[in-house]
Amino acid sequence: IYKWHYSGLNRWHGAGSTADFQKIIQERCDTYTQTIRPGSRSRNCQAIRQAFMSAFISKDPCKATKEDYNSLINLAPPTVPCGQQVFWSKTKELAHEYAKRRRLMTLEDTLLGYLADGLRWCGEPGSSDLNIWSCPDWRKDCRTNYLSVFWEVLSERFAESACNTVRVVLNGSLENAFDSMSTFGRVEAPNLRPQVELEAWLVHDTGKPPSDSCSGSSIRKLKSILDGRNVKFRCMDNLSRDQFLQRS
Ligand code: NAD
Repeated sequence: IYKWHYSGLNRWHGAGSTADFQKIIQERCDTYTQTIRPGSRSRNCQAIRQAFMSAFISKDPCKATKEDYNSLINLAPPTVPCGQQVFWSKTKELAHEYAKRRRLMTLEDTLLGYLADGLRWCGEPGSSDLNIWSCPDWRKDCRTNYLSVFWEVLSERFAESACNTVRVVLNGSLENAFDSMSTFGRVEAPNLRPQVELEAWLVHDTGKPPSDSCSGSSIRKLKSILDGRNVKFRCMDNLSRDQFLQRS
């Protein structure tokens, strides 16, 4: 039993692949290309689904590389029109609401971000199926799993394509609104190009005092990362969720 447990499909500490992964990808791709952004360059959803599967199927789920996702990302790069990008960290729902109201775009509003949001996937060497029983957990098993590497490479490409003024929505109800270990802190902020301007919005829960501000140490750390890349920075704080959605 011990041996089966540690060599079998159940050995990872994270939840398994989403049931019907391929079907969901195909359906989301059809919806996105036909209904959500019908104006976008016509994309071949079957090719996208196949490229997604080939990136990880039959491979060691702890040996993902950025290169594994090259052909997928080249079919649908996560680029958006200048000045429309919204980054977020610990504010997913709020950032999406904000982007929707202002007609701006988060990573989850690009095709690949939309396809993969909330899904899980991993394969198994010697098998052409997804492992639905378990997938590596990024803390307990390995950082180089296919889910983490996917979001890292997609976030990197999204940030690299930013131009003019872009925004990040940060959680002012946390002691450190900027977390240098988050995807925004590790991958997106350090990949903004020189001359881009980043506007940070620190938004706290309505009815509570804020726990961090633009003059706090976490935001000073963000500022120093951006200074090193010649990225311009502006910061707005002390906004409740309601104030932010209404007047920003
Ligand atoms: P966050 O800390 O709120 O994390 C967002 C989600 O990603 C959480 O579910 C978290 O558990 C997961 N996550 C973070 N790092 C991970 C890793 N190494 N491996 C697996 N899961 C991980 O915010 P964040 O980390 O700053 O990420 C948000 C930013 O990065 C956004 O600007 C977005 O563009 C991009 N992103 C999006 C997603 C997504 O699921 N849609 C995931 C990661 C990154």
